[in-house]
Amino acid sequence: MKRVKLDYGHDVTITDEAFAQIEAITNANKVCEGCGNVYSSERPNVALNLCITCFQRKYTDQNYTYAGEHDTNWSGETIHWFVDPLNVVYSTTTGSRDPQRDWYYTLLYWGFPVPRTWQDGEETKEINYHLWSIEGNVKTDQVIFIKNSLDYGSERSVDFLSWKDGRTLQIDRRKGEGRRLFLAAKKQIEVWNLYVRVSSSVLLPKEMREQLPLLYSQEHEKDPMVYVKFFHPNSHWTWYATEFDGLDMFFGFVYGDFPELGYFTLTELEEFKDQLGLGIERDEHFTPMRLSEVKGLHPETPAVLLTPPQPIIVIFIDDEAQGEQNGRN
Ligand SMILES: [Zn+2]
Repeated sequence: MKRVKLDYGHDVTITDEAFAQIEAITNANKVCEGCGNVYSSERPNVALNLCITCFQRKYTDQNYTYAGEHDTNWSGETIHWFVDPLNVVYSTTTGSRDPQRDWYYTLLYWGFPVPRTWQDGEETKEINYHLWSIEGNVKTDQVIFIKNSLDYGSERSVDFLSWKDGRTLQIDRRKGEGRRLFLAAKKQIEVWNLYVRVSSSVLLPKEMREQLPLLYSQEHEKDPMVYVKFFHPNSHWTWYATEFDGLDMFFGFVYGDFPELGYFTLTELEEFKDQLGLGIERDEHFTPMRLSEVKGLHPETPAVLLTPPQPIIVIFIDDEAQGEQNGRN
């Protein structure tokens, strides 16, 4: 006997034969929830009640490219692959709602071998397939670093180099040949990591990034154009960018404690948090203007004393530490 739900909250008990018939009818007549079309090979069911067309429409911002069926999972659902603009593979199944980022599938898709075991001293141990992360551009690089966390939530991990031609090598990044190989590829990987970061930056969206001229391009301009303004909502600190290197480095006018022209990076702007947890923001209402006009918006010397008071932090210290503390002040 089986229980089925025919409409809202209404359960019916039926025989196994009736259930099998309903299942067969359902499977033969499944349609997409979005467009009402019957699934077909051109219009496969790639996620829960969605065809490929409706799925692509739902995730249009992600710009996923469909990479076909991969396999079936343990419950018989078909696994579908999608590739995002940064070459990372996402998977869905006919029973899943949202695409999941998957480093293991990313490695398989781009033809990088995935080690099955690792050496723990003399001992050979099995690797958990779900805990991979990748450094490097899987599309263009011939060798990448892959890191396997040994357990969920564990800090312990083991590093490998993986070559597109089929080799893998467990390495120690800190010593010997592993360190030499790691350093050789590090620069290229860092550039890729910055590219990945800037591509998904909220602080500097794509439109702003494309608007900014390249570094040094306004070098000979006496009164260069300022394109972007970043600010800290809780102080006078403000950054005006005139140029950008496309990855991380800005040049512009920094209105800090000592206002000056200089370099600053997207990484440092994004990572900054004050004691209240406030980060840097971009002024969405800022319209491009000349540097001289920007300078005119602020008093020449920052009104440091007018900044809101810092939160009071009470530190309990014993006598010995107090002596030390006073010495520092
Ligand atoms: Zn559809």
